Amino acid sequence: MDKRIPLNQVPTPAYVIDLPALRRNAERLKEVSDRSGAHILLAQKAYSCYATYPELSKYLSGTTASGYHEARLGYEEMGKPYGKETHVYAPAFTSEDMDKLLPICDHIIFNSVNQWKTHRDRALSFGRSTAAASRPSPAGTVPGSEIPNQPSFGLRINPEYSEIETDIYNPCVKGSRLGILREALDRELGEIPVTEEIWNDSLFSGIEGLHFHTHCEQGFEPLFRTIKVIEERFGDLLSLPQIKWLNLGGGHHITKDEYDREGLISEVKRLSGKYNVTVYLEPGEAVAIDAGYLIGTVMDIVENGMKIAILDVSAACHMPDVLEMPYRPPLKDAYEAGEKPYTYRLAGNTCLAGDVIGDYSFENELSVGDRLYFLDMAMYTMVKNNTFNGMPLPSIWLLDENGEAVNVKTFSYDDFKARL
Ligand SMILES: *Cc1c(COP(=O)(O)O)cnc(C)c1O
Repeated sequence: MDKRIPLNQVPTPAYVIDLPALRRNAERLKEVSDRSGAHILLAQKAYSCYATYPELSKYLSGTTASGYHEARLGYEEMGKPYGKETHVYAPAFTSEDMDKLLPICDHIIFNSVNQWKTHRDRALSFGRSTAAASRPSPAGTVPGSEIPNQPSFGLRINPEYSEIETDIYNPCVKGSRLGILREALDRELGEIPVTEEIWNDSLFSGIEGLHFHTHCEQGFEPLFRTIKVIEERFGDLLSLPQIKWLNLGGGHHITKDEYDREGLISEVKRLSGKYNVTVYLEPGEAVAIDAGYLIGTVMDIVENGMKIAILDVSAACHMPDVLEMPYRPPLKDAYEAGEKPYTYRLAGNTCLAGDVIGDYSFENELSVGDRLYFLDMAMYTMVKNNTFNGMPLPSIWLLDENGEAVNVKTFSYDDFKARL
């Protein structure tokens, strides 16, 4: 089972998680959390390779999820076995979702006033029932939550301020469904600034936290400016004693060399001191950035005005962000088109004409059977892949510090058939 082979013998296509690189990211996050007091959660949307959760649980406070399936995975693989927190947010939950989430989640975050209205009674009565007492209490049980085993409930706000320039990644774009506008809160609350009594008498009694997610692959400076806006627009709510936590969402490139981690640490300390809240961060990318490869093999080389290499890895199936973002993934020992003597267009083995990974140049000619190592492939890959064209899914491997890999998962025809 635990048979290790050198990286250059791993059969392709394969995703390989680079454990030392993952650990380096996790150590940087742990330092931020140790020094600032922030709880840092893995956003499983970006990376859910749970074979590495035992390792990540040494560094992180828990996981967050985009719905029941991810929440259950986080609870089963990190929350329950390691006593870590399980959080969840979704644009909308059904009553059935709520029944399944309440026993396993520490934080449940609602996206609209109407969603909170819909689930409020069920949510607030949970934990008062004896059934709930059987939930193993994770280490992250919310401080100050007077009812044991009751999750803490929060609202996602839309501060109407984001510096993300690509609309499909901007939750504050005009017409966005993500998060509650201040004016929608005010329609319920009536008076500004909101006081302890107004809050207690309102629909929102029972809400203990605020959440925003308005960043994507950004440094500390946009966060700093966003927090200023949040304090201006929502400061009265943050000051309420009922509000016990503030979740700053994901999209922070905290583990990048150039990220201003000192700035983040002092801002987290300032916020938690000023408002008496626990601060949460829920990065996905920052956990898994630069921590994995997608290895492919050249299957054929054809010519049509240029040389085109057909690979056993596909942009459409195995790294859909290449087409969705879009972007040109970094490739080991390869350069910009035209920079070195041999330029190739790299493309997938599907019938989609646009299944093109990008144009790259090489020092030497490519041959059938050559292996190519795409870089930074741990995040937003295996969580988004698909079997379009019946393409085989890459197997999953973990690479250790000695350059040896162990297989954690292999896929077959059965995985293709099972989804249809
Ligand atoms: C996508 C997302 C994250 C993680 O974002 P990254 O860019 O991967 O850090 C965190 N929280 C929420 C609500 C998200 O939608």
